[in-house]
Amino acid sequence: MNGEEALAKLLEGNKRFVAGTPEAKDFAARREELKQGQHPIATVVACSDSRVVPEYIFDVGLGEIFKVESAGNVLDRIGLGSVEYGVAHLHTPLLVVLGHEKCGAVTAAYDGHAEGNIAAIVKKLAPAVKKAKKGGDKAAEVEQAAAINVKKVMGKLRKLPPVKAALESGALKIVGMRYSLGGAVEIIVKK
Ligand SMILES: [Zn+2]
Repeated sequence: MNGEEALAKLLEGNKRFVAGTPEAKDFAARREELKQGQHPIATVVACSDSRVVPEYIFDVGLGEIFKVESAGNVLDRIGLGSVEYGVAHLHTPLLVVLGHEKCGAVTAAYDGHAEGNIAAIVKKLAPAVKKAKKGGDKAAEVEQAAAINVKKVMGKLRKLPPVKAALESGALKIVGMRYSLGGAVEIIVKK
């Protein structure tokens, strides 16, 4: 499966998710198959938000998505290393950065909340928030900041040597997406 095919599979799955008609899944049989090894079709960087569940959103089963999750879908070295693992060792043909509507982490960064280790997350989100925050409508600016953050995370990922090499050889496709809480994903960056 190439990146285009993997993307098409995820988008078709999302249509089923929105329609409330997910495919039946034989978890027992799939678990047996996966004992031989995993060959996920996508590495997905997503928010920890309990409403944003990649396997449900894209209606895929076990062994299909290699996930890297954090509040605000930001990446520290461990997160970046996890993406490198998905791309360089599991050879996923697709890399998705999935932002979402009404992200609590982005809102916290917008409001300047930063207690304990949450400060590290807010710090990562600060450049995107700074760019979006113009004293306008808060809800709209939070959405803009989330979209800018997806682009920034993608920019950081493109510079990782294994990601760069896979993109250049055509073995990998990268897309940025936004999940709306109503269920649909839209592609916001496709390159
Ligand atoms: Zn979030």
